[in-house]
Amino acid sequence: LQTNVVTLYDGKGESVGVLIVMNDVTKLRRLERIRSDFVANVSHELRTPITSIRGYVETLLDGALDDREDAVRFLQIVLRQSQRLNAIIDDLLALSRIEQESNDGSVHMEEGPLCCVLETAVQTCQVNADQRGVKLAFDCPEAVVAIMNETLLEQAVVNLLVNAIKYSKEGDTVLVRAEVPDGAQENRVRISVKDTGCGISPEHLPRLFERFYRSDKARSRELGGTGLGLAIVKHIAGTHHGRIDVTSRLGEGSEFTLTIPGRMA
Ligand code: ADP
Repeated sequence: LQTNVVTLYDGKGESVGVLIVMNDVTKLRRLERIRSDFVANVSHELRTPITSIRGYVETLLDGALDDREDAVRFLQIVLRQSQRLNAIIDDLLALSRIEQESNDGSVHMEEGPLCCVLETAVQTCQVNADQRGVKLAFDCPEAVVAIMNETLLEQAVVNLLVNAIKYSKEGDTVLVRAEVPDGAQENRVRISVKDTGCGISPEHLPRLFERFYRSDKARSRELGGTGLGLAIVKHIAGTHHGRIDVTSRLGEGSEFTLTIPGRMA
């Protein structure tokens, strides 16, 4: 508790009492800590590729440039690390834009068929899936409609698909499905992305949607992850007054489920 004491005076300047104001600053402190942790995390995430780029450029200038084979190899690393920096900055900007729009209430929501949005997301990821030898399957009844911002929802599904493909094995199938659950959860649609990849162990599940949280840092970096994909999905779910859940078993696969307002038309 933060306490402020103010003495109250009457018109003649005589003290007539005190006013004690007590503020519960727990929430404020927590927000401050989250913000400063975030800045520290961003700095760390940006510094890692920069350190690597600097190291390789210095080695090149120190003479490695004379060996063409080494030089090409080092420059490829420099290129990869600068692409990584770009990806982190793109995701950070996406996250802050969604946060901003969501706070202003300026996100345009409209009821429309869900199929088209899911189909576009699948098409966007098809090349990536083909390259990794992963099959994409799609199941969405045409009558399912959702109240959504199509651009944002498509981005959320793409992020889930990118992960599902990334953490799958060659020959696996990723299934994207939409359904309207019966009973209690009326006026809701469930969009799920299910893979049979490496899975996630239970201790990581509660923190998975935090910015920069990864269950396997080295692997995520190697696969080109920024650690922001799921944080973006969580924000998009919030913008839709919806939620994102995950169930997973290590070694067997994962299923991410987005639930947002919608119905069977
Ligand atoms: P990244 O860019 O590292 O993939 P995300 O925010 O998208 O970051 O995901 C956070 C972490 O969650 C990943 O690093 C990975 O450890 C784990 N993860 C996400 N999706 C899956 C999945 N489909 N299968 C296994 N692990 C996953």
